[in-house]
Amino acid sequence: MRNPRHDVLFEPVAIGPKLLRNRFYQVPHCTGFGTEKPWSQSHFRSMKAEGGWAAVCTEYAPVSADSDTMPYVSSRLWDEDDACNLALMCDGVHAHGALAGIELHHGGMNAHPRESRWPPIGPSPIANAHYATASVSKEMDEADIRRVQQDWVRAAERARDVGFDIVYVYGAHGYLFSQFLSPVLNRRQDKYGGSFANRARLWLETLELVRQAVGDDCAIPARFAPDALGPWGVSGDEGLAFVEMADSLVDFWDITVGELSGLGRLDSAASRFSGEGYELAWTAQVRQATGKPLVGVGRFTNPDTMAALVSSGELDIIGAARPSIADPFLPSKIEDGRYGEVRECIGCNFCYSRSVYGSHLGCTQNATAGEEFRRGWHPERFERAENADRDVLVVGAGPAGMECAIVLAKRGFSRVHLADAEPEIGGIARWIPRLPGLGEWNRVLGWRAVQLEKLRKTVEIVPGTRLGAPDVLAYGAELVVVATGSYWAADGLNGITFGPLPGADASSQSVLTPEQVMLGGKRPAGERVVVYDCEGYFMGAGLAELLAAEGHHVVIATPDALVAPVCYETLEGYRLRQHLHELGVEMRTETAVVSIEAGALRCVGPFEEEFELETDAVVLVTQRLPRDELYLDLSATPPDELRAAGIEGVFRIGDCVAPRMLGDAVFDGHRLGREIDSSDPNVPLPYRRERLVVPPAVR
Ligand code: ADP
Ligand code: SF4
Repeated sequence: MRNPRHDVLFEPVAIGPKLLRNRFYQVPHCTGFGTEKPWSQSHFRSMKAEGGWAAVCTEYAPVSADSDTMPYVSSRLWDEDDACNLALMCDGVHAHGALAGIELHHGGMNAHPRESRWPPIGPSPIANAHYATASVSKEMDEADIRRVQQDWVRAAERARDVGFDIVYVYGAHGYLFSQFLSPVLNRRQDKYGGSFANRARLWLETLELVRQAVGDDCAIPARFAPDALGPWGVSGDEGLAFVEMADSLVDFWDITVGELSGLGRLDSAASRFSGEGYELAWTAQVRQATGKPLVGVGRFTNPDTMAALVSSGELDIIGAARPSIADPFLPSKIEDGRYGEVRECIGCNFCYSRSVYGSHLGCTQNATAGEEFRRGWHPERFERAENADRDVLVVGAGPAGMECAIVLAKRGFSRVHLADAEPEIGGIARWIPRLPGLGEWNRVLGWRAVQLEKLRKTVEIVPGTRLGAPDVLAYGAELVVVATGSYWAADGLNGITFGPLPGADASSQSVLTPEQVMLGGKRPAGERVVVYDCEGYFMGAGLAELLAAEGHHVVIATPDALVAPVCYETLEGYRLRQHLHELGVEMRTETAVVSIEAGALRCVGPFEEEFELETDAVVLVTQRLPRDELYLDLSATPPDELRAAGIEGVFRIGDCVAPRMLGDAVFDGHRLGREIDSSDPNVPLPYRRERLVVPPAVR
């Protein structure tokens, strides 16, 4: 049963002419689907409607060809065909009783129209600071202004006509309207520049035009950042003054903060630096300036927090992007009091990295995210496997093994054994959260441990048991899934010199591996330590931070041009770099280590220049290797021996196939569980692709 304290979350909320059935609202967020993959878009968003969200929105939807942002995929709404594609989403969302929203948008000088080849436009001729485009935006003349406003109105009408209930006049995150509002970027002398009222004019006029066009049929929100945390908009008093000015023109406010990139990128902040509700300081300011319903975000997954925010009047509507990706059924689980079932977002931003840059959304916690259409996966429903009467042995209880065992149990297998050499389950998910800032990543293990406990009649956990091939042959299981993970190369093997590093001897006190530091408690021989990071993700930076906090003088050396480049894709990079700097970590980029000597590392710089880095020790974060002996031994076992042991299939999943990001290991385990009854489960089944296909008759 639901706690009555949470009842407030299930009250309806009026937004202009529309009614939200409860207070759970999926704010716009990227997917990589846009109008390009309309079926994926529709199935992905509809799943959230089915899971109880009151409204589900698209990602940003450019209204004009000069707001083309390819290769970033958006829900562009330029013409009737785009509208038809997006109509699929409206139909799907409505079928589950939710409202559909579209985030109409214009990027202004932040657009980089590489497909349309229009010039970018903006308030003033200023170079694009976000992307390396070598271009300067055209100063919008009156005709540009009228055209964009007409495009916006036309897009709003098309959106309404195909069923959208909520039509945004979006200007946050440093896009066109924020650029006009900015006293720094807007250098105009006409009625759209100069005074605050003039700088606000474009946004206010557009709101008015959209309201006239579709305001009787659709709810109209503005998405706004009261503090752009940089030049891309306004801050302080002007932020609140805009809310007061525009208040009569909006049906509700969707409040965010900051810019698109750089240190001002606070929206979608990773859990490394920002906990639940981290944007509340800004929504609290806006609350003072409006009585209209207020949507706020901040990776809300805790129903107590959400209910308290609504009860206190701080927020009217609980906005969520990532929590809705990690668990599309979050509202209905809370509604039914199934709190333990909620799969909480870990704030890793794998989803973001997989939804921009022209790719396809994924999620560390929810392997089904983005696979609703193309693979037909439902996060809460599982079909009975044809071979569900077999016994399964999963060797390795890391993220991949745990996920696979859970899926197999949900697919009707009644005897799944999940064995691990360690006394505790979890694999790398046990110790990654002990790295500085990654505490919330313990939810990867947490959710799976709860599931496994619930499934304990089906999944038997066999801890503290290291299995070799003879043990597996004697085990008696018909299906064997190897999920034995990976380990960090102890010899410095790397993708720069394509070999081990001469002098790397991890049995000495001056050469360390990540596992030795994190699991074995090994520490550098002296005060000075170099963390040599060729991977460029969280491990190198995390170990550098950990050792610096323990008092070592730390240098992080990397062959990359930036420290931890993968963390830029997860929106952590800028703050991470700043944070390491504040901790006194010295950063040596474009530095390739070629050998390890006594007291120094021999290095090569970007121009082939050789130099030495003096140090007492080095931590090798060069690359991981698959722990694949068991799988290879089993694969090398003659088929008749396997048959004699009753084994029908041996499969492998996760990092022991190829070490990848955590979300990929979870996905791999999930996929095998979903496809264990296919003709060759080791090879993923083809998925449905959305693309233009030339009919044979045309060729
Ligand atoms: P992944 O990310 O692919 O799930 P992990 O490295 O997190 O991989 O987990 C692999 C798990 O497999 C670890 O917990 C490890 O203890 C376990 N393991 C590795 N080899 C064996 C083995 N031969 N027998 C049992 N467990 C093993
Ligand atoms: Fe949350 Fe990570 Fe999933 Fe994104 S990928 S929704 S941040 S758990």
